[in-house]
Amino acid sequence: MDNLFTDFFPFGAQYHRAPTPLESEWDGDLAEISAKGYTHIQFRPQWRCHERIRGQYDFAELDRLFAVAQKHNLRVIVKPQLETAPDWVFTELGGSRVGFGGQPLPPIAHAAFYVGGWWPCFDNPVVAEAAGRFTEALAKHVKDQGMLWFFNAWNEPRSRPMGQCQCDHSVQSYRDYLKRRFGTIEVLNASFGKAWTSFETVFPPQSHSDYAELYLWRQWAGEAVAAQVGVSAEGIRRGAPGKAVMCHVGFTSITQDPACDTSNDLLNAKQVDFYGCSLGIQLLPKNRIEKLETPVIGAWMRRVDPNFWCQEFYTNYANWWQEADPAFIEQALWMILATGARGLTFWQWRSERFGEETNGWGMREMDGSATPRSERCDIVANQLQKWGAELAKTTVPQSDVAILFDPANDLLMRIEAMEGPLNGIANIQANNDYSYKRGIRGAFYNLMTTGHAPDFVTPGDCYNNYKLFIINCLEQISEDTVRKLEKFVEQGGVLLVEYPFACRDERTWATLQRPSLGLDRLIGCRETHRLALNDGETRTLRYGDGQQDTAAFCQVRLAPTTGIAIATWEDGSAAAVVNTFGKGKVFTCGGNLSIAVWDTLVANRKSALPHLYALALEATGLSAETTPFWTLERTSKENAFRFLFNPTEKPQNAEIPSGFQLRYASAEAKAEGNRLALAPNAAAVLQKSL
Ligand SMILES: [Zn+2]
Repeated sequence: MDNLFTDFFPFGAQYHRAPTPLESEWDGDLAEISAKGYTHIQFRPQWRCHERIRGQYDFAELDRLFAVAQKHNLRVIVKPQLETAPDWVFTELGGSRVGFGGQPLPPIAHAAFYVGGWWPCFDNPVVAEAAGRFTEALAKHVKDQGMLWFFNAWNEPRSRPMGQCQCDHSVQSYRDYLKRRFGTIEVLNASFGKAWTSFETVFPPQSHSDYAELYLWRQWAGEAVAAQVGVSAEGIRRGAPGKAVMCHVGFTSITQDPACDTSNDLLNAKQVDFYGCSLGIQLLPKNRIEKLETPVIGAWMRRVDPNFWCQEFYTNYANWWQEADPAFIEQALWMILATGARGLTFWQWRSERFGEETNGWGMREMDGSATPRSERCDIVANQLQKWGAELAKTTVPQSDVAILFDPANDLLMRIEAMEGPLNGIANIQANNDYSYKRGIRGAFYNLMTTGHAPDFVTPGDCYNNYKLFIINCLEQISEDTVRKLEKFVEQGGVLLVEYPFACRDERTWATLQRPSLGLDRLIGCRETHRLALNDGETRTLRYGDGQQDTAAFCQVRLAPTTGIAIATWEDGSAAAVVNTFGKGKVFTCGGNLSIAVWDTLVANRKSALPHLYALALEATGLSAETTPFWTLERTSKENAFRFLFNPTEKPQNAEIPSGFQLRYASAEAKAEGNRLALAPNAAAVLQKSL
């Protein structure tokens, strides 16, 4: 895919989703998009509009859109929208979804799917076949259009609400998944201590009370979602062989509720040539942890696919909501580009006109005129016209520090955080505010404040090239991961573990020895007692040198074996332990420092780098000095681009490091010689020739 994006930087906008913008508006809009230096547009042909009558394809409107794109020399991404299915999918093919307790989920229209038909069950093989036939017909129809660039196979693949789908086809799909994974019902029963009669008597769980069944079923949902992406992508490939196919997720696995709004990025990405995401960030951030969403999402997406795109960048909310600060919008734009995005598409050019999206989500006003937000986007488009080709050749170099993210552990900890009556599962709403997500973001923040932008790694990855490796809230761990961690530390790596840790097995059961799998050898201590702390409740760790840290979520009393206690709880028991293992070291904290930092930032209180992080960084030889800036880098053989952001609420001064020159400064940044004064929301781009 590399040759698609290396001679300019792709920076465009979603343009058409029936029924808007109206045909009378196309020519003027596309002339403006082209004149402002945007590189591409996206059309979103909806299944329902183009196969309204079964088997009769009508692409006349799309042809006219392509003609206007040709006139203004704009590349086109075609994104078929299967979610808005024709009426006959429901009335003739039995395509309606079913939720918990057999409750039907009839198709609806809403602002983002105004034409209706949202959304059918793609586990139904007849629906999937008809859907694949549609994307094939669409791809075949447009494949020779001169401005066709590539296809986006699926807009925000996901399984929501949690109850979907429990139609006969989906239940069969779940049973088939279990058969593939476990072979026989006896193996499945023995693996989880269950007693099903046969696969044919297994049904989706109707309660969150047992973790194991919900854990299995939502893993199936992630597989089913990826298979749906495959249906669309395969249809496109049959219709337009050789054309590139991407898809983009709504919320990424690093920010999404994995049970109530299931979508597994790692599985989806395998279905397409390259992957992307919508950037569902807070546009009116209340604190620094909300501003952190952009670099967190970018770092995760880079792990999923080094060629990732930011495929829906929003500059506004809807319904005449309070408008975002244009300076923040520009900062977030540079920030997602700095994390390694290979292309960016705005959602969308004009603000929408109907339903809950009224006056929403557009760079421009509903009538197409400019806004203070779109003027910032135009400035970035203009910069990228000048030096985007150099930026397009760069990638983000590997970091010295990494955070482990395990989607399976995320699902388990989300299920643990569910609350409600036994029969109330249908009322559990999507929520991404729980221990694992808080811990991961807090750890990311800690590293960003020391100038070390971390990578994310997954359990199957290689850990060896990192200096510092962070494990946070990892309750479930595999033997393979344990072996990798041992090798990493043995060879000189530094590991920092924040509890809870290694306390559940592959069945989701609590283990009797904690940490499990003999991990006490690696971390040099065992867990003796775990006290759960309520939200907002904290405990203090005291170090021998008088330093203190604050822990949240749990207070685990540790019993050192080969390790040495370096901090204690109020009762004198060990709270933090350091252990030497081979050439490396492991720092373990019986409480969660990163969740405490997260809580502090959410409450807009001043946060300090946890002392244990400073000790771990110092043990690797990396600086633990804190900085108010967030710094991100992209490099190629020729150039290093360093992006400098002020995420704080105060003006900050920085120095341009020797060798670098200022390539661009936003209106909030002022340069004088090699001094940079960065107001809140400022972004600056420094460049060095290599
Ligand atoms: Zn179904």
